[in-house]
Amino acid sequence: DSRIEELDRELSRMGIRIRDTDQRKVRDEVFDEVTLLALYKLANRKVINAVGGSISTGKEANVFIAKRGDDLDCVIKIYRIRTGNFNVMSDYILGDPRFASIRKNKKNIIFAWTKKEFSNLKRALDVGLPVPEPIAFDRNILIMDFIGKDEVPYPQLRLNPVDDPEAGYIEVLGLITDLYQKARLVHGDLSEYNILHGGGKLWLIDMGQAVTPDHPSAHRFLFRDIQNMNRYFGSWCETLDEHEILRGIVGE
Ligand code: ADP
Ligand code: MN
Repeated sequence: DSRIEELDRELSRMGIRIRDTDQRKVRDEVFDEVTLLALYKLANRKVINAVGGSISTGKEANVFIAKRGDDLDCVIKIYRIRTGNFNVMSDYILGDPRFASIRKNKKNIIFAWTKKEFSNLKRALDVGLPVPEPIAFDRNILIMDFIGKDEVPYPQLRLNPVDDPEAGYIEVLGLITDLYQKARLVHGDLSEYNILHGGGKLWLIDMGQAVTPDHPSAHRFLFRDIQNMNRYFGSWCETLDEHEILRGIVGE
């Protein structure tokens, strides 16, 4: 496809080499025309100046390490347009009053989702929660701070358990509480996969699905987040009653 090749050449000219970064399959599934154009815009705005290796290939998104305009490490999360898990996304988006008015085709839902993750991270960051700082977004691409050291991402909590489980459990309950009470958000997919552990603390990531308390399923999602954390920490330490935790957070 000549448009794709053209964008690819433009990006190479700016020092961003997609052709060599990954295998053919990743290139075809992730770096389609829309995505290359978004990448081109971000490079043109000098938000990024290099794309590095793959950190993760998930159900909906690919995550790469990258360099910001100022050469600091950052992360590029690209929601796949071709092979993304789009049905799950629309369920969450359509109940969210912030996104009630978007046209409901696949691309728009994915773009709205990307913007939603950006604004969720911003809301959490603004009240001082440990989340990656969102830097920019364009279409299906989100640029955020790199959570790690020397180009190595901090591991997920499941791979790097805390030394003191009671303290870790209390820390996580504090994060869920602050997220709800201060940022007015429910994570909605909280687990030992979406918490990074490094630099002496726990970091919340993957906030695309996070919803505001007025979402019709907000309390159900909050309860599930609490259950997940009780399940995870329950094999290491005593946990509190799930219903009581929920009541304590929402204040009912
Ligand atoms: P997915 O929707 O695919 O689960 P995530 O946002 O959870 O996407 O990212 C997938 C993985 O990529 C994470 O588990 C983590 O290991 C890594 N990752 C994501 N964001 C960052 C970040 N800002 N800094 C470092 N690593 C990250
Ligand atoms: Mn995740």
